[in-house]
Amino acid sequence: MNVMDNHMEKYLNAHPFLRETAELQLSLNAAIRPGISPLEIPDTDEVKALNKDGVPLLQHKAYQEKAIQILVAQLPAVLEQLQSLECPQPMQEARRLLAEWTQKQTVDKLVALCGLLLRQEDDKLSAFLQEEQLPEQLLRTVLWQLVEAMVPAPLKDYAFWQKAGWNKNFCPICGRQPVMAHLRKEKEGRARFLLCDGCHTEWPFARVGCVYCGNTDLTKMHILEPEEQTAMRMDVCDVCQSYIKTYNEEGAESVYLHDWATIHLDLLAEEKGLHKKGSSLLA
Ligand SMILES: [Zn+2]
Ligand SMILES: [Zn+2]
Repeated sequence: MNVMDNHMEKYLNAHPFLRETAELQLSLNAAIRPGISPLEIPDTDEVKALNKDGVPLLQHKAYQEKAIQILVAQLPAVLEQLQSLECPQPMQEARRLLAEWTQKQTVDKLVALCGLLLRQEDDKLSAFLQEEQLPEQLLRTVLWQLVEAMVPAPLKDYAFWQKAGWNKNFCPICGRQPVMAHLRKEKEGRARFLLCDGCHTEWPFARVGCVYCGNTDLTKMHILEPEEQTAMRMDVCDVCQSYIKTYNEEGAESVYLHDWATIHLDLLAEEKGLHKKGSSLLA
């Protein structure tokens, strides 16, 4: 199965240490996407109306329940499908464990699990997974990829949220904090958009300032630019010691708008004692 476009191929040739992760992520995505039934959204006006109060779509009870239903219905089949993907040994073990566990659970328990994930009750979710001795990273990856696949594409488009006037520092669909930012050329200069690592929605946000703590004092912010990678920089906030990776070009979104594609920059930031936020793998 060919899951890479040319941009990605070129990028992986230059960053061979990312190839295994890339193949895994992209084939997981390709395996999940075709089977999923989309979340039914009546019309875009209703979505805008629902988001008027600042509550993300999937934090509204009715939509959260629909999303949980889809997750619970699709999870066993998706895990079954994953068994045939080529992957490294530890992952083979993890996916077998997960598939066996899921088969044995009652619907209520799976509903509880998916509810914790969607409401982002991360401590409770981690405790649950530990108690059941389940591989947390794989489960989070699979469930968030399912969420991403069930949200209709037009709702993930930045232009939609630009029109709807959503400019908060959390995702209008699932409510997660952003993991990355993208500077796009607009009519007047450049505008900043944020990207959700859970459902991969993109939405507009203020051009300057810290996305996470709201600091707008630019003397307390700086930019880290990795020498070998001009397309991607890190905007660092000296107040909360967090950073956001920012893609500041256009054309290679299929590479740079995947958080895992620049995981080496996160390691660099970690060495400097900075905090990463918004990753769907992190509690
Ligand atoms: Zn989201
Ligand atoms: Zn900050």
